[in-house]
Order: sequence, then structure tokens, then C-alpha cells
Amino acid sequence: MKGNNQKYLYIEPYSYIKIIGKTVFLFNTLDNSYIYKENQRLSEIVSEIIGEDSAGMAVLSKMDLLSLREIISEIRDTFIGDIIKINHGQNKPFFFQPQFNTCSYDTIRNHLELNANKNMLENLFSIHIILSGNLTQNESEYILGHDRITNNWHTSDKLQPNDLVELIDELKAFSLSRITFIGLDEWKKSFSDQLFQKIISKLPNYLKIDYVSDISKFQNLNSSGLNHIYVLSQKDLTKIRLNNLFDNCFVYLFKTANELERLYNHVKVHNFGSLKIKPVASSNNIEEIKGIISVSKERIVKKADIENIIQNKVINTKYFGKLWVFPDGKVSSTPSSHRKYDTVISALKQIIVDRTSVWNRIRAFHEPCALCVFQDLCPPLTQFELTGEIKCICGIM
Ligand code: SF4
Repeated sequence: MKGNNQKYLYIEPYSYIKIIGKTVFLFNTLDNSYIYKENQRLSEIVSEIIGEDSAGMAVLSKMDLLSLREIISEIRDTFIGDIIKINHGQNKPFFFQPQFNTCSYDTIRNHLELNANKNMLENLFSIHIILSGNLTQNESEYILGHDRITNNWHTSDKLQPNDLVELIDELKAFSLSRITFIGLDEWKKSFSDQLFQKIISKLPNYLKIDYVSDISKFQNLNSSGLNHIYVLSQKDLTKIRLNNLFDNCFVYLFKTANELERLYNHVKVHNFGSLKIKPVASSNNIEEIKGIISVSKERIVKKADIENIIQNKVINTKYFGKLWVFPDGKVSSTPSSHRKYDTVISALKQIIVDRTSVWNRIRAFHEPCALCVFQDLCPPLTQFELTGEIKCICGIM
């Protein structure tokens, strides 16, 4: 009669599970409800459920049913899992374990690398091409995300027309969706606009082509007919008036909460067509930036979805599939990276398998996130965390 006092606990296959020590996080991926507990016994039971030989469940003793009564109710109320009676006269039931909880990092990585190698040309989604090394402060801050000019190229460098032709020819083979050019205004001082148009006319029509420019260079916004992204900072706000703003894209660089506030006040009067904001680090604003970009537990959980959770386990989605071409023709995974490659394909082949490249830097291997149960739900590691300027973007750990 022993079985009458015992029950099976199972977790639904759509629920996400993370256990670190005695901390247990259970997340319903269907409605974003969750349970966060520090409980040693619960940790042991849930570990058993996702263990190799568990058939997706664990046996709860009479003692467990008593001591975990409230937690079990929460699990049932949130539809994260349930308990069922043990009937010793029948076969043991079987429950599907959610694969994204049980697959190891190495298994998913090996699968990803195998696929990536098979379809190498499909791993590049977007590319930034810096045509000229002579950039304005706004353009440089847009690229690097901080106000120190530590470019990986000389200001006198310009991508030579022959190199640009070769690059465009190489890019045609990739299933790329977006190209962003920076420094076109400077490039055109040495080579003509006609030459540039002739070179890029070989690109497929479906490609989205953007041109990033400092707003100070333009008197009449979007007069060129190109898809411009105008970069501006607080000092440029007065240049933005009501006319034609709906047809233009803007990126506003800010270093302080005050600068962000000024933008919000400006936007109340002057609507922007499309506006993004980008924090820029300086020597003394990093705590302020952290305060602005930091995320709360509630927000992390509210924004999470199953697709992001799976991706966050193996890649940094902010960087994966993106490359930069410098004005000296070299290729890299970020504008500040010192690892440079001669061609796009050689860069791709190595960056994908290099588990220390930004494409593959994930929170599970980043202090202090490695000890946090939210590591797969949080947004990917930011540039500030990768450079060590900010430890992590939350106040949780
Ligand atoms: S410690 Fe890291 S993983 Fe955890 S909530 Fe903070 S940023 Fe996210």
C-alpha cells in the first residue's frame, strides 16, 4: 500500500527548466508565467525529472507532498506541470521531456556547427562596410559605441574600387539580407558617385541597402534618394524640424539620462519617421548607462519566448551572422575586434567555430550570469558586458 501515499510529478514539455544549485526556475513558455524558488528538495526532484533515465517524472513521497504542498499547487495552477497518482497495478507512465531542457550545450553546438559548415553561405545575414576611415565623431560613436577613437584602421584608409568590386562579387553568393555602408560621403571625395553606383548595381535587388551618415553632412534630408540612416547626438537636435521626418531613419546617440530626456522632449513636438536610440560609453558615464539599459526580472520574463531561449543557449543573437568590412579591406566580427580576416568567407568559417568569438559569447559562460537562472532568457550579452565595462545589465546578481 506504500504507493497510495506517493505521486508522480511531471513537467509539461513546453515548460522551460533551469536549476542552479538550490535555485529552481520553471517557466511556462505558452503564457510566460513562472515559478522561482530556492529549495534544495525541489531542485533535486526537478533535476531528476530532466535526468536521463527519468521518463520525464519523479516520485514524490508523502513527506514531499506535505513539505512542497504550496509549490506543487503553484506548478499546477500555472500549468507548468502536474501530479498524478501512482497505480502500482499499471505500467509506469511515460512523459515527454522538453528537449530544450535536456540537450547539452555541446550537443546543440555540434549540431549548429555541422549545419553551419554544410550551408556556410547561409550564415551571413548582414554586413557593415566602412568605405572610408575618415569618420566624424557621430559616425565613429555609432560604430564603436563609445567616445574613444580606437579605430582598427587609419583615417587615411579608403576601400579601393577594385577591392569593393571584389567584395561585392563575393557577397553575391551569400544569402545576405542587408548591407550598410558607412563613410560614403568621404569615399566620394576620391572616387565618383557614378563609380559607386556602378559597382553596387551588381547587388541583387532584394537586398536592403542602408547608408549611415552624420546628420551634420546633410542640409536637405533624404535629398539623395538613398536609404539614409542619420546619426545625431544631442547637439544636433535643433537641426531636426518637422519637415520630411517621416521618410527618414535616425539613430540618436546619448551618453546621459539628461540627453535622453532632451530627445523625448523633442519627439513630443517633432515626430520622427523611424528612430532608434543608442547608448555611447565615455570615461565617466558607465554607471549612468547601466541604469538606463538595465532590465528587471519582470521585464526579462515578460519578453522571453521559446525561440529566444533556444538561441540564447548557443549563440549571441545580437552579433551572430553579422560582419564588418574595414576601409583597409579586412573583415571582422565587430568594429573593435583585432581578429581580422582577408575575405568574408574565411572570416565566416573561423568565427562560426571559434567559441570565443562574439557570435558565440553567451551568458552561460559569462560572470556573473553563469550562476543565474535567467541566463537563457536575458537579452544577448551587450557590447558593454563583452568589454567588461558593465558586469551585467541587471540588478539581480
Ligand atoms: S545576472 Fe545576467 S543572466 Fe542573470 S538576470 Fe542579470 S544579466 Fe540576466
